[in-house]
Amino acid sequence: MIKERMEEVREQIASACRNVQRDPSEVILVAVSKTKPVSALEEAYQAGARDFGENKVQELVEKAEILPKDIRWHMIGHLQRNKVKYIIDKVWMIHSVDSLRLAEEISREAVKHQLCMGILIEVNVAQEASKFGVTVDEAESLIRQIALLPGIRILGLMTIAPFVEYEEENRKFFAQLKQLAVDIEGKNIDNVTMKYLSMGMTGDYRVAVEEGATHVRVGTGIFGERDYGA
Ligand SMILES: *Cc1c(COP(=O)(O)O)cnc(C)c1O
Repeated sequence: MIKERMEEVREQIASACRNVQRDPSEVILVAVSKTKPVSALEEAYQAGARDFGENKVQELVEKAEILPKDIRWHMIGHLQRNKVKYIIDKVWMIHSVDSLRLAEEISREAVKHQLCMGILIEVNVAQEASKFGVTVDEAESLIRQIALLPGIRILGLMTIAPFVEYEEENRKFFAQLKQLAVDIEGKNIDNVTMKYLSMGMTGDYRVAVEEGATHVRVGTGIFGERDYGA
């Protein structure tokens, strides 16, 4: 079942790429496995998944310990500073950086472990009160400050679009994130590239791909509905 769903998502990505003449190899499918048991991740791994997204530190660490070492773990959820030390040498990229203080902690831990951590800046393009992320207007100034830190490299932007009935409703937000990335790239800030755009989830990844996503974060579309229990 997971294998079939993944194939379906890959086909949808390829078809969205064809619509705008993009090369599907530019789009990384991040399988969002939060709340799902290791057996489900193993199934996705067997079907070719190597990029997995988690939003809780403890869950990510536990799964990373058990599963194959060639998996790239993506931290996609809100990250508390005191937990950075647990994931710094386990994650491939952190998608959800939205403050200087968090970036400073990532920098400190990265230097301690002699590594360079790739991060994305989370932007709340739709300005939803319930969501983390900086505003479009705040992004450049935060990026300029983070760019000065050692052990950290800004690779692009991330956004979580609103939950909508029709994915077309989110196209404008994805286009806005892309435009912001183009604007920032144009400023040629040292230690900053805008090569990655993490945007699009189960409900809207096709539109996100059409607007330039390089990472789509798909959970339900691969693993089925999440059961958060009682
Ligand atoms: C849970 C989650 C997703 C995946 O959501 P689906 O709608 O199940 O695809 C993507 N991004 C973030 C940040 C998430 O927390």
